[in-house]
Amino acid sequence: MSDSKIFLSPPHMTGNEQKYIKEAFDSNWIAPVGRNIDLFEQEIAHYVGAKGAVAVSSGTAAIHLALSLLGVKKGDTVFCSSLTFVASANPIIYQGAEPVFLDSEPDTWNMSPQALERALIEAKKKGNLPKAIIVVHLYGQPAKMDEIMGLSEVYGVPVIEDAAESLGSTYQKQMTGTIGKFGVFSFNGNKIITTSGGGALVSDDLEALDRARFLATQARDPAIHYQHSTVGFNYRMSNILAGIGRAQMEVIVDRVKARREIFNRYQQPLSFLPGVSCIPELINTESNRWLTALTINEELAGTTSLQIVREMVKQNIEVRPVWKPLHLQPLFRGNNYYSHQEGASISDLLYTRGVCLPSGSSLTENDQSRIIECLRYVIEHAEVTERIV
Ligand SMILES: *Cc1c(COP(=O)(O)O)cnc(C)c1O
Repeated sequence: MSDSKIFLSPPHMTGNEQKYIKEAFDSNWIAPVGRNIDLFEQEIAHYVGAKGAVAVSSGTAAIHLALSLLGVKKGDTVFCSSLTFVASANPIIYQGAEPVFLDSEPDTWNMSPQALERALIEAKKKGNLPKAIIVVHLYGQPAKMDEIMGLSEVYGVPVIEDAAESLGSTYQKQMTGTIGKFGVFSFNGNKIITTSGGGALVSDDLEALDRARFLATQARDPAIHYQHSTVGFNYRMSNILAGIGRAQMEVIVDRVKARREIFNRYQQPLSFLPGVSCIPELINTESNRWLTALTINEELAGTTSLQIVREMVKQNIEVRPVWKPLHLQPLFRGNNYYSHQEGASISDLLYTRGVCLPSGSSLTENDQSRIIECLRYVIEHAEVTERIV
């Protein structure tokens, strides 16, 4: 194999990261407190238009804090998108609560308001409304937030936006992560910007964010001696990593622009391939196009998503299937699931048909042509031998 490996979504540094890391070293604030953290939090809040932000050790930690702030505990249920990474739902289990999974709808691939309404009606009848709704903006595409927020208000159930993949995406000009009660971002290495690992919780409720800071630093009571009245976590971000984040926030606008351009460069040549469709973009929304995701219609393409993944990986191109829906995971066997329409699950379909293409903001046009050529070759030459079931 002679061609160098093309990664799905590798970190993309600016060079300025070192400057802020050096500041942390020079001031000896090598700790989860310091100037980089304060400024990084302000920059995130300012960029998304939230009143405040708390920088933490991961996106998963931010989801856990949000659930904790909403009082989710043993015996409660939490509604969650099914088509997502497992990290969206794991914190529900950390709290001893029970996830109920909701299907996608075809226009955004995100939480189906229809499924949500059915699930809420049933839960209300049983006197068992969920404590929270975790809505994911998958691959950067915003969910149908008007409909979801409408239901949230009618039933009085707060929304946590898992915007781990959608920093910079807008819904009717409003940034994702600022529409629900809490928003969560991830700065893991594969996300649109990275701190090598990290996350943030954003909200307009500054009191809740203060409480999040308290919980994220072992919930130490305001006393001189070490006193604790509640369970806390060690979730704060290091001042060194926040330095990486500051440099990355300087280019967030360029990063969103680059990913959108990559999507646009894929879209036209791929539209000529039989059975290939790109993830849609809902009217009045703008996706950050974190990953360009496709569906492969086996009958028209003459091949399957699984075969495309295998063939392209052989050519040193990191292509991935879409997330396996959580209601299909062995981990969540036995958890409740509401499909978009009764008897017809959209997320199952997206899972068996979906493919994610390399979409990193540092992807060169040459490498992107190589990916497109490879995909074209596979579709023109493959026969169906295996599929995801
Ligand atoms: C990456 C991701 C997370 C978790 O973020 P970490 O920072 O890796 O903990 C949560 N939800 C979704 C949808 C993600 O893609």
